[in-house]
Amino acid sequence: MAYKQSYGKQGPLAWEKDHAVVEGIDLPGHWNRMFESRVITDYDTSTLDAITSLPGGESLGWCYQCAKCIAVCPVDIVGDYGPRKIHRDVQRGVSLLDSHNLWLCTTCQNCLRVCPKEVDMIQIMPAARQAAIEEGKPIPPELQKAFEASDRYGNPLGENPRKRADWAKGAGVPVPILAQLKRPVDVLWYVGSYPSYHPRGIDAARALARIFHALGVDFAILGVEEKEDGDSIRLAGEAGLAEKLTEANIKTFSKYAFERLVVFGPHEYNAFKNVYPKHGGRYDVSHYTQFLVEHLDRLRELMKRPLELTVTYHDPCYLSRHNGEYEAPRTLLKAIPGVRLVEMPRNRENGYCCGGGGGGMWLDSFSRDYTKMRLSDKRVLEAVETGAKGLAICCPYEVSRFEDAVKATGNDGRLVVRDIAELIDESMRGNSPSPDVGRVGRR
Ligand code: SF4
Ligand code: SF4
Repeated sequence: MAYKQSYGKQGPLAWEKDHAVVEGIDLPGHWNRMFESRVITDYDTSTLDAITSLPGGESLGWCYQCAKCIAVCPVDIVGDYGPRKIHRDVQRGVSLLDSHNLWLCTTCQNCLRVCPKEVDMIQIMPAARQAAIEEGKPIPPELQKAFEASDRYGNPLGENPRKRADWAKGAGVPVPILAQLKRPVDVLWYVGSYPSYHPRGIDAARALARIFHALGVDFAILGVEEKEDGDSIRLAGEAGLAEKLTEANIKTFSKYAFERLVVFGPHEYNAFKNVYPKHGGRYDVSHYTQFLVEHLDRLRELMKRPLELTVTYHDPCYLSRHNGEYEAPRTLLKAIPGVRLVEMPRNRENGYCCGGGGGGMWLDSFSRDYTKMRLSDKRVLEAVETGAKGLAICCPYEVSRFEDAVKATGNDGRLVVRDIAELIDESMRGNSPSPDVGRVGRR
């Protein structure tokens, strides 16, 4: 009997007889059967096929169970998770579309970084979530709420869209609105939903406005015309809504003349750099840390007050692993007088996820049932272990997540969470950070 041919190769001939003598040992016939090709026909592959047949879901079928992903998956570190486990469950008949595992992945990309087979959860999870939503499967209520708010108000916090630029009133410097300016600008600053509405996001937005002003940047914002960028909504599975937001923002951008786009958040950076071009929106986009590094010499002159603070820096997944920017935030931190930077063991390419990506920002209550602690709690414990008194961030999702985690882990008063823009602004303005400063800025 010949081996079935595959991939165009000629297999060796397998044969079987009652007895074979191999190196003097008499083998009975059933031993010889191990040389036959075996076609597995006795298990149902429909649950795996349901994912691998989705556009984007194909690579789940490539997993060969090596387990390299498990060691780096941030959710497995606080729970029981990872691509290998999902592949095995699905292979054994678990429907991913009906499983809680569908919603736990934060699309942090650390598994893809180490996977020899390029099993891509950043494609698989949005595809599977989209299929679950389209099939009317139940989705976590808090996620549903964020979808509905984004659709209705243009921001996932459910805030009044007419108040999107209200934060600027307290900045202490003019923050021009593009529609009122009626002229081209060098920089269109896309502020984002959390810096526009969340009290601690507002603190960082005002700090960046003051920095732009001190640098003499010719900038403006969209104000009430700005909408949520849609990237986390896309990754959470609501592709239709994400597309609607994308098209609305592209239409607004097209009304104005500007040289470049500067964004506050890594998720917006990912959206404008990698997703909007597929919809016809092509921009010269920079994260604000990249933009400020271009003005480092002038910033050094402006930052006069030493902060006397040891900080550790959290790499946001969508700025670092997804888009390769590790240096700009560190360069800025090292340039601030009196700031000493210490690294957490998990940093740069292997940075730990805060739990906010891929829709995780709106899934903390849901995830609590399946993890020992929140990812943000784990990260704050890692920050405290370095001995740093400050946790420096540059993603608007993180300030609320980490400040909650500081309290939840009993580290209130021992660790302050500060956006890099806030630290630069404090050095420029002469404010001295203390464990209380994170609370002072709250409304
Ligand atoms: S690293 Fe890739 S191939 Fe290995 S178990 Fe994980 S998903 Fe499968
Ligand atoms: S993308 Fe991140 S959270 Fe999702 S499975 Fe991979 S390592 Fe885990």
